[in-house]
Amino acid sequence: MSIRVRFAPSPTGYLHIGGARTALYNYLFAKANGGQFIVRVEDTDQERSSKEYEVEQLADLKWLGIDYDIGPGKEDEFGPYRQSERLDIYKAEALKLVEQGKAFYDFCSEEELEQMREKSMSEGAPAYTGKWREPKHWDEAKARIANGEKAPIRFLAPEKDYTFEDKVRGEVTFPKGMVGDFVILRSNEMPVYNFCNVVDDHMHKITHVIRGEDHVNNTLRQLMIYEALEAKPPIFAHVSLLIGKDRQKLSKRHGATSVTLYKEESYLPQALANYLCLLGWSHPDEKDIFGLEELYEVFNLDRFSKSHAIYDTEKLKWMNGQHLKNSSDEVIVKDLEGHVSHGHFFHKQNAEWKQKCVALYKEKIDLYSEFETQLDQYVLDENVEFSDEAKEALSWETTPQIREYLVERLNEAQASFIQEQDLADWMNYCKKELKIKGKPLFMGFRVLLTGQNHGPDLKVLISLTPVHILKKRLEKAGK
Ligand code: GLU
Repeated sequence: MSIRVRFAPSPTGYLHIGGARTALYNYLFAKANGGQFIVRVEDTDQERSSKEYEVEQLADLKWLGIDYDIGPGKEDEFGPYRQSERLDIYKAEALKLVEQGKAFYDFCSEEELEQMREKSMSEGAPAYTGKWREPKHWDEAKARIANGEKAPIRFLAPEKDYTFEDKVRGEVTFPKGMVGDFVILRSNEMPVYNFCNVVDDHMHKITHVIRGEDHVNNTLRQLMIYEALEAKPPIFAHVSLLIGKDRQKLSKRHGATSVTLYKEESYLPQALANYLCLLGWSHPDEKDIFGLEELYEVFNLDRFSKSHAIYDTEKLKWMNGQHLKNSSDEVIVKDLEGHVSHGHFFHKQNAEWKQKCVALYKEKIDLYSEFETQLDQYVLDENVEFSDEAKEALSWETTPQIREYLVERLNEAQASFIQEQDLADWMNYCKKELKIKGKPLFMGFRVLLTGQNHGPDLKVLISLTPVHILKKRLEKAGK
């Protein structure tokens, strides 16, 4: 049978980075095996689910480079793939279990249930001990339902051990008695997660379930339901949880935890995807910088780590810088259109100017959002602050001579920018005619025109700075 995996988000918030990582692993596993990657929206929590979150989460997946083969809007014969459109199916399956004596209607009152809970806590008694689990009361229960009364359907939990082989964690055994009879369909006919999740995985022909370790305990109830449905459980792979550098559960204080925020902070989708893949999984060749398509061949379930994965935003930022440096200048220029403030000088320049700027600064930045600052600070600042070293260079006796010469040249300039060649010619003139050489020459030019005693290639930098700004800098240097 061909491999079918699913990502099953609950649309109760933005796409969490942990969820995005799960989605990536499922997507890559499908790609690596010529299988199908399915998205199933688990929206049975009517109060907390919203259409906006669903739209947002699916858009974020797409942004990360994850396109689903089957799911909402891309149905196949086993759909639908939104749980809210499958409520009749869950009801029918629950009723079947009642008919087969594997589940029962529970008419216990809230007080009775509360007493059972207390007793179970203090004495370790089974969680549910109500009379309705006994077959002799089932006809009465069904008659009350036929009469229009409402009651939840509770699953009759078998009393035996359950074991499964997890692809990451190895053999997992749940000794008998860990869970009592549990509700699968509420009295308002809404299904409970463990029930509809299994009904769907079974009907959607899911072969492998790759998800977070926090779902290991749910697997017990789910195995019971597979057994009751006479269905073969999928292969499970529970991947380790994400924790912060302080080894605490990941939360907002460890930095942004939703994909949307990284998108807004100008991270590259391929960098975030790359980083998330490596949280708990390793590349067979120990590569750490790659594009998703490079994993299509090599991704497998054998390279997961059992220990928690540490989420480190500094490392992510560094990785973003690596991807940025690997991008072509043309691509960066195009991307920057959306990351430089509206109306900024940058937008009004020609393609050549933009590309030169990018070539000059892409090594220095890790994020697109840092580009504008570099530009404002080094290329466009008309009110430069002279550093102490720069001030020293201004005090050399040759520097005012260069300044005077440059003022004349810039006053003559017709165009908005000078050419790289102009600068070379001017330096030559100062060398030959004014007899200024070596450090006083180079440093004099740099300090006068940039306010700094170091920086990138001076002729390139100067050819990018508008003449009127260079004039202002010279003026300030003379004060
Ligand atoms: N809707 C569940 C969640 O978001 C899915 C869990 C699962 O993959 O089984 O946690």
